[in-house]
Order: sequence, then structure tokens, then C-alpha cells
Amino acid sequence: MNVISPRPVAAHPADLDCAQFAKGLFIGGEWRQTAARIAVVDPSTERVLAEVADASVEDALAAVEAAERAAPAWRAKPPRERSEILRRCFELMVERADMLAALISLENGKALSDAKGEVAYAAEFFRWNAEEAVRIAGDLGTAPSGANRILVDYAPMGIAVLVTPWNFPAAMATRKIAPALAAGCTVVLKPASETPLTAYALADLYREAGVPDGVVNVVTTSAPGPVTAAMLDDPRVRKLSFTGSTGVGRLLLAQAARSVVSCAMELGGNAPFIVFDDADLEAALDGAMVAKMRNAGEACTAANRFYVQSGIYDRFAAGLVARMAALRVGPGIDPATQCGPMITRKAVEKIGRLVADATDRGASVLHGGTVPAGEGYFYPPTVLGDVSADAMLMHEEIFGPVAALCRFETEDEAIRVANDTEYGLASYIYTRDLKRGLGVAARIESGMIAINRGLVSDPAAPFGGVKQSGLGREGGHHGVLDYLEPKYIAVSF
Ligand code: NAP
Repeated sequence: MNVISPRPVAAHPADLDCAQFAKGLFIGGEWRQTAARIAVVDPSTERVLAEVADASVEDALAAVEAAERAAPAWRAKPPRERSEILRRCFELMVERADMLAALISLENGKALSDAKGEVAYAAEFFRWNAEEAVRIAGDLGTAPSGANRILVDYAPMGIAVLVTPWNFPAAMATRKIAPALAAGCTVVLKPASETPLTAYALADLYREAGVPDGVVNVVTTSAPGPVTAAMLDDPRVRKLSFTGSTGVGRLLLAQAARSVVSCAMELGGNAPFIVFDDADLEAALDGAMVAKMRNAGEACTAANRFYVQSGIYDRFAAGLVARMAALRVGPGIDPATQCGPMITRKAVEKIGRLVADATDRGASVLHGGTVPAGEGYFYPPTVLGDVSADAMLMHEEIFGPVAALCRFETEDEAIRVANDTEYGLASYIYTRDLKRGLGVAARIESGMIAINRGLVSDPAAPFGGVKQSGLGREGGHHGVLDYLEPKYIAVSF
């Protein structure tokens, strides 16, 4: 039985004054007030933490203007200087890790341990891109005719609009801002309206690290559609980097087409987690808990569909139930919590609908499945057995702490069902036979594959999806290339 603990009375991280980060929109290094405000709610308690500014289209265009004014000096700054500023952002994030983790946990609800992991991951994008900033090389070749040289330089794309989701309020922003700044671009960030405080806390930190005014601008809005459309229609904007749902991604691609804005899309996932009979059971269970329960299942890389070979299925199901049942559910900010609340009541209701649909189609509830009474948007860790292929949750992201288990017999069958989705972000494979693991990985339609691991994200590796999970890659060397245009110069010496 999962224990649901009350909000701690005197735990220090919970006492963080969130209102200090709601100083206004961050435009050109100044805090701009708005008459309208957006309430930021603690999903653990349903109480309002703070109210942030609500940008209009005019405010957003003022942010584009500020990014435009800052652009010439930033792109002309020597790479070493840009690198040192990014390095300082990394150092300040590490120094303030506890405060940032508490803020993320309060506004997002995730367990403090997950929030600390996010801060470390988010900060790492600054360290990695500080190193990338001084390693942006061009190419020089000879034309096949021998008549001239082919010189390829890499130039910053220009102003980038960055739109981020609520599930990783720090990391989804730094995964874009750090490579954009390393490349010499200036940016306007529009964070999710559920979790804007982290973005504003980080804006303060960037300034302290030496990021010049106007290089990073942050605007929150209750009208993301018109505000983002206006920025994309502004000819000064040359890049859109979006992380969020596939549905909104499709809309933004259509809008970006009007001005032929370059797009990077990090969209939804529906990750399969395949366990073969020969897998190390304990390792597979450890990996399953990470792949499913990091952020209480609110991750694009979260294992959504567990395909378990029939010879190990019963032992895997029993082990997973035992581990899910032992999780401590509670307010994210309580250091004892292992599974926090969902982001909104709507999210809890959606999970409830998907679970009801699966059980209507024959799935058995092996653990959980009942929403607890009381304050907060909690959904309990849940395991469903023998979920049928036509259940909605096999085709949609469940985005919550629900593991859906299905049996399979053969390798070909596992690959066929794993690929039976419009998504292709992350996949997980457990087998002791590495030859089989790599062979299956080669046939899985997915941008990222973890073999005998439950975690795939790494700032040094290219993160991204195939099919309707996205376009482009973030992280690794690919991350900075996404903000650079190759410029070809034909030159005769
Ligand atoms: P979402 O509803 O698509 O929102 C993402 C962002 O888009 C938010 O800032 C949102 O603003 C904004 N937005 C919403 N409607 C818009 C519109 N019409 N025009 C312009 N912007 C709009 O996604 P979410 O619920 O926040 O995040 C969960 C989704 O993100 C999941 O599908 C998850 O898989 C995906 N995700 C993908 C990755 C990846 O790297 N592939 C990483 C994390 C999450 P508001 O907050 O104001 O609505």
C-alpha cells in the first residue's frame, strides 16, 4: 500500500519565498510589469505560490526587439568570452542547486530528489556548451574542378524563440539557451505557464553570470497561441525550438512555415520497454523503476508500454508491483517523497480515463488505480497486467505513474509491437545477449535506445526523436549545430 504523507510543517525547502521570482517579464535586462497576472499553483497543495506577469503580443514583440538590439554585440563577442559566461552559469546553478531544486519541486510537484537530478542535468548543458562555444570549426576543401576552394563557415542563425513545457522547467530551458548562446544567438524564452518561476529565477542567475541584457529574454503568457504566432511572423526571428506535445508541435510547424522559420521539435513519446527472458531480472526492475517513475512518469522518455517475454513475465510483474507498492507518495518538497503529484487535476483525470479504458478492454489492475481523496493532484503508482494492444494507453502518452504490461513470445513480435506507434523518441531493451540487444536496437524506430539501462538522457549525447516525436537533436555537438547556419564561400586563392 502506498503511503501518502501530509505536507511537512517546518521543512526548510518548503519555506522558499516563491513570490521573489515573480518580478515581471524579463525583457532587455529589465523587469516589465503587466496588469494581467498568471497564478502559479503548487500541485501538492493546490495553493497559489505566486502570480507572474502575463505578456501580450506587444510585450513579446518588445522581447524580440531587445533580442535584436543585443544580437550584434553578442555574436561578435570572442568565443572564449561567451564560453566563460556559460561556464559561470554552470557554476552558479551548481552553487544554487538546493534553492533551484526546491523551486522546481514546489511549482512542478516532482520529488525533491528528482528536482535535484534535474538541476544537475540542466546545469550540465551550460558546462557542455561552454566547451562547445570554442570548438565551432568550419571546413575548407578544394572544388572537384580544382578551380577554387570551398570554404564553409558556421554563422549564428539569429534570434531564436524557445518554447518549453512544464515537466522539466529548468532542463528544457537550458538545453536550448546554452547551445543558442554558445552559437552566438540571442533568445526569447516562453516557458510553460504552470512552471514559470524557475525560468525567472534562472534569468536572474544568467545576468549575474555576465549574460548581457537582451541576450536572454523571458516572457510568460496565458495566450501562448497568439503570442508565439506573432513572434514567428516577425521577420527578425529565424529559429523556433519547441519542446512539448506533438499536437502543439504540428500547429507551430504550420505557423513557422509562413516565414520559413527553421524549426527544432522535441515532441511526445510512447516508449516501449522490452524485457527478454534472458534479462537480469533485478537489473530490469531497477531500470523499469527509473524509466517509468522518474518525475512520477511525467517525462517524454518515460516507459509507456512494457513488453515482457512470457518466460519472465510473472516474475517481472510481481517484482514491479512490489517496488511500486513500496514507493512513498507525497508532496514533492518532502525529502521522503519518491512520487509527487501530477501537474494538474486535468492530468489526473486523463490518467483515470486511460486506466478505465484499459481495464474495460480486459487489463487487470495489479496495483494502485484508485485516486486518493484530499488536497493535491495525486495519482497512485499503478501496474496494469495483460493490457490489450487496442487500449488507448498503448497509443497515447500516459504521462503518469502507470506501468502497462503485455506479454510477447518472439523477438519479431516484440519489434513489431514496439514500432506500432506514430512516436519514436526513446526505447529500452533488457537482455543479457548484447548481440541480440544491438540487433533489436537496429530495428526499433526510435531516436534513442537504452540497452540494459533505464536512463537515456545525457547532455553529451544527441537527444531527439524520429517519426512524430520530433525534428532535430539537442545535446552533444548536434545541439550547437542546430543554432548555426553553414555559410559557403567559393574562394580563389
Ligand atoms: P504542450 O501543451 O505542448 O505545451 C508546451 C509549451 O507550448 C508550453 O509552453 C505551452 O504554453 C506552449 N503552447 C501551448 N499551446 C500553444 C500554442 N497554441 N502555440 C504556441 N505555444 C503553445 O506540452 P506540455 O503539456 O507542457 O508538456 C508535455 C509534453 O511535452 C508531452 O507530450 C511530452 O512528451 C513533451 N515533452 C517532450 C520532450 C522531448 O524532449 N521530446 C521533453 C519534455 C516534454 P502553456 O503552458 O501556456 O500552455
